[in-house]
Amino acid sequence: MPAPVDGGLGRSSAACDPTQSRGRRYPEAPAPTRNDFQRDRDRVIHSTAFRRLVYKTQVFLNHEGDLFRTRLTHSLEVAQLGRSIARSLGLNEDLVEAIALAHDLGHTPFGHAGQDALNACLHEDPSSSDAAPVGEPQGGFEHNMQSLRVVDELEERYPAFNGLNLTFETREGILKHCSRANAQWLEAQEPGGVGHRFLHGQSPSLEAQLANLADEIAYNAHDIDDGVRSGLISIEQLEAVDLFDRYRRQTLAQYPHLRGRRLLFEAIRRMLSDQVYDVIAATRNALQQAGVESVEAVRQAPPLLRFSESMRADSSTLKRFLMAQLYRHPKVQETTARARTVVADLYQAYRHDPQALPAPTHPVSERRHVADYIAGMTDRFAIREHERLTGQRLFA
Ligand code: MG
Repeated sequence: MPAPVDGGLGRSSAACDPTQSRGRRYPEAPAPTRNDFQRDRDRVIHSTAFRRLVYKTQVFLNHEGDLFRTRLTHSLEVAQLGRSIARSLGLNEDLVEAIALAHDLGHTPFGHAGQDALNACLHEDPSSSDAAPVGEPQGGFEHNMQSLRVVDELEERYPAFNGLNLTFETREGILKHCSRANAQWLEAQEPGGVGHRFLHGQSPSLEAQLANLADEIAYNAHDIDDGVRSGLISIEQLEAVDLFDRYRRQTLAQYPHLRGRRLLFEAIRRMLSDQVYDVIAATRNALQQAGVESVEAVRQAPPLLRFSESMRADSSTLKRFLMAQLYRHPKVQETTARARTVVADLYQAYRHDPQALPAPTHPVSERRHVADYIAGMTDRFAIREHERLTGQRLFA
């Protein structure tokens, strides 16, 4: 059994403190009733990109069924898990929530298939070797970079600046991964900013590390649920996955006649709880052993927000199972192939005829403008646009 948790009464000295934020790119007066991280979270919720998440694919295409996760419900689950763990560890819940709700804002329609297709289009674009204008990322398409671009540049909601003008700490968490070229580009725009750590091998805040791990915990669990619901994987197949089967057997020991949906949900629930307790215990241990007591020390240390060794191994096994049995399932592959075609065709159509999409309101290369426009689309808008521009109907 995990050590009892304190319900989050004590604040960790390694937690981010909104009164000590490194601030926003454009200085703003504090809000009277909310701290800076609460304000970031609220800005994310009110953004256009956030509302689009409801019609963007997580694994199953949005129109395949009403009960599957979308990017929006996925992001809410990440925020819930992140807040729970943050409370127990004394980390800043508002910051974890802001990062979790924003972490997928840059995702293209059709999930990873859309991203891969858009990345390939940018790399194969004849203008790809031309220098990009100042203020524009280099190279291809990275969804983490795009999430940052959404909150820094693409949202048009304020009179005085582009983007949402979020704090450094929220932006740092959103930029989970970043290529070296883009880190150098970010560092040139904003010395010591969110690109810095990728060039100097430093860690982000514990809240950012937590949002990242909560993402993994959330999708592993909900992809089991959605996978079984879709009929593409079965509870019997999952018996080969130790992490799941442990809780299935535990559940059956207590409820021998339980079958189907309730057995599935109870096993997932137990798995989620155990993973949460595991992260809390392992992270407490790691923080203590490293003697880390400030946000600065967190940044200099290796990532300390973690699973125990055995849970890390179990989680990797589950991920491999989902990759092989669900994400690479022929039925999923078949729809992702069509999704890639939609994105690639849209890119070519817009590059061929720039009048076919709204003109940019900021300096941007034509190729990046097209990529930004496609990345912002919901699944169903992309399908409709594809039909309008090509006359083909790839999805019923
Ligand atoms: Mg995610």
